[in-house]
Amino acid sequence: MSNLWIISDIVETAYEMLAKARELVSDSGGSVTAFLNGSEAQAQEAISYGADLVKLMQIPEKTPWEEYVPVLVQEAQGQKPDIILVGATRRGKDLAAQLAAHLDCPCVTECKTIQYGGTKALLKRMVYGGLAEKTVECNEFPLIATVAGRTFSKWEVNDTARQGIVSTLALPDKLKVKVVERRPKPKETVNIKDAPLVVGVGRGFSEASDVKLAEELAQAMGGEVGCSRPIAEDLHWLPEDRYIGISGQVIKPEVYLAAGISGQVQHVYGIRDAKTIVVVDKNENAPIFQVADYYIVGDLKEVLPALTKAAQEAKGS
Ligand SMILES: Cc1cc2nc3c(=O)[nH]c(=O)nc-3n(C[C@H](O)[C@H](O)[C@H](O)COP(=O)(O)OP(=O)(O)OC[C@H]3O[C@@H](n4cnc5c(N)ncnc54)[C@H](O)[C@@H]3O)c2cc1C
Repeated sequence: MSNLWIISDIVETAYEMLAKARELVSDSGGSVTAFLNGSEAQAQEAISYGADLVKLMQIPEKTPWEEYVPVLVQEAQGQKPDIILVGATRRGKDLAAQLAAHLDCPCVTECKTIQYGGTKALLKRMVYGGLAEKTVECNEFPLIATVAGRTFSKWEVNDTARQGIVSTLALPDKLKVKVVERRPKPKETVNIKDAPLVVGVGRGFSEASDVKLAEELAQAMGGEVGCSRPIAEDLHWLPEDRYIGISGQVIKPEVYLAAGISGQVQHVYGIRDAKTIVVVDKNENAPIFQVADYYIVGDLKEVLPALTKAAQEAKGS
């Protein structure tokens, strides 16, 4: 009988991990507990997505989320979960590391796949910026594994007939850290992770004003504009939350169209799960062609307006 936990401050990631957790306990008939930063309604939804027990651990106003760690440690010592999947968000990563230290247990980060046979777990994760895949065998439990959003898919149809128990986790009496102020970062209204099509702007754009070529194409095709890191961090032509890659956003759109991006491994890490990759680059030896499904060798200043025109005509027809 196995006992799996999932912990996430983002509910969508929790629902995705629940599908995987259910699969992992399917042979043993074990139970799945979800620790969720969510509402009562979301707790019920988590049950219909596969949780047996939901423990709400909402982010308190003046306290960091990781302050729940001592409570989670106590719960883990009592319930003895075999595997704890933690959403690899900023808060989740901190929490997973602290939990692993307190429980003195293994912690495998950013897992792509997990197999569990009751006595041993096999986990795959990317290494060297996505150049290689590493398989980790784990024989010690509990095992903590962090999982990035969209690694697994939530159940296509949630099972509203499922029954479960919802409770609320209390913070420890003594808190170590107090949040003095929370100030929202000025944020873009778009989330490029949700866009079905992303046009990527790279250093091949010689001037800031040329970015409009990508914006026009994205608009004509119902998508958003993303970019390589130098465009956001060095040149500041686009906001930082638009850059894609190992240290930026990891996107999984239907179509990623890269223009003037050479395809360094740090960038490709963020696009490798796009369904279709289209590339425009004037250098026929650009490394990005290796991951392209379709490519055009040419000057982006000519190719992008032609694609925009074709998209507009297709829309109009
Ligand atoms: C620790 C670390 C983390 C990093 N993380 C990231 C990350 O998350 N994301 C990221 O993107 N980068 C990241 N980088 C940077 C990365 O290594 C590359 O430097 C960067 O991705 C290159 O950006 P680029 O492809 O836009 O530019 P370049 O490599 O300069 O490529 C420009 C491309 O444009 C083409 N080109 C030029 N003119 C035209 C034209 N007129 N028409 C068509 N094509 C043209 C060129 O042939 C070339 O292929 C990281 C680097 C480090 C060290």
